[in-house]
Amino acid sequence: MKPAPFRYADPRSLEEALDVLAADPGAKVLAGGQSLLPLLAMRLAAPATLVDVNRVPGLDTVEVTGDGVRVGALVRHARLLHDDTAAGVQPLLARATANVAHPAIRNRGTTVGSIAHADPSGEMTSVLALTGGSVTVATPEGRSTVGWQDLFVGPLETSIAGPAVVVDAFFPALPERSGTAFAEIARRKGDYAVCGAGVVVTLDADRRVSAVRASYISVGLVPEVHDLTEAVAGKPVDGADWAAAGALARTLVDPDTDIHASADYRRLLVGVLTERTLTDAAREAAERTAA
Ligand SMILES: Cc1cc2nc3c(=O)[nH]c(=O)nc-3n(C[C@H](O)[C@H](O)[C@H](O)COP(=O)(O)OP(=O)(O)OC[C@H]3O[C@@H](n4cnc5c(N)ncnc54)[C@H](O)[C@@H]3O)c2cc1C
Repeated sequence: MKPAPFRYADPRSLEEALDVLAADPGAKVLAGGQSLLPLLAMRLAAPATLVDVNRVPGLDTVEVTGDGVRVGALVRHARLLHDDTAAGVQPLLARATANVAHPAIRNRGTTVGSIAHADPSGEMTSVLALTGGSVTVATPEGRSTVGWQDLFVGPLETSIAGPAVVVDAFFPALPERSGTAFAEIARRKGDYAVCGAGVVVTLDADRRVSAVRASYISVGLVPEVHDLTEAVAGKPVDGADWAAAGALARTLVDPDTDIHASADYRRLLVGVLTERTLTDAAREAAERTAA
């Protein structure tokens, strides 16, 4: 099938992009095209105008500070995957990106495009949630910051309306004395996951567990962050019962059945992946916490 006819604009500045978007309520931003173009080809979307932002300057930067990592709208998955400086501040970026699609798609698709697409099976939506991140949205009226809790409204739906370009996504740094891990189960490597889990474990100065958070993919309609601390709070990092945290996680999620997996199977995977990732994250947290 071919896409429905559309107009194409390739603005050379953000202001010009916003002007084109404002002039046509049926216009859509085109970034890497790795999600939007398949939707067009299947006629599941038919925007009147595609506003290709690939020639807009200033959107392809990764800024790393002690506070976190700011990823510009044109930064491809592949670049973030290999950015060791960014991974040093927020290790979940590279760990999760390694699970996004195949190399060819990662060469073109963007991290910010993934987030704007708001697919509950997308790795980076859950990383934005788990790290407590936000996006910067440019509109004709100016720029604003939208936190992850206010961003994701439903599957493939965000709160961003009207003429707008997401110019970057900000992922806060991993807190001190913390470790992370990310793992997923997919039928084939590179496929969207049947279930995935990202976790952060934080210890106190005595190497006891003080906080445990987890976020899952392909489990709910929008990214959610679950606090699993109560299952292991105060336990020495070497003696914590991570299976108990996995059991707690299974009671907190509410997965759906679809053609890929039943809700029961997904709930089972949540327990298994939680225990597995927490074991790894706890090891990393212990290494980052002086004995
Ligand atoms: C075979 C295949 C397998 C894949 N597997 C995975 C996977 O396992 N995990 C995963 O997460 N993704 C997967 N993807 C999707 C891929 O990661 C895409 O790159 C990503 O979802 C969208 O990024 P993009 O830059 O290509 O966005 P586009 O396709 O250009 O846009 C996607 C949507 O976001 C909007 N948008 C994009 N950028 C902006 C912006 N800056 N401001 C406002 N709106 C914007 C567009 O208007 C559109 O609605 C897969 C894709 C394919 C084709």
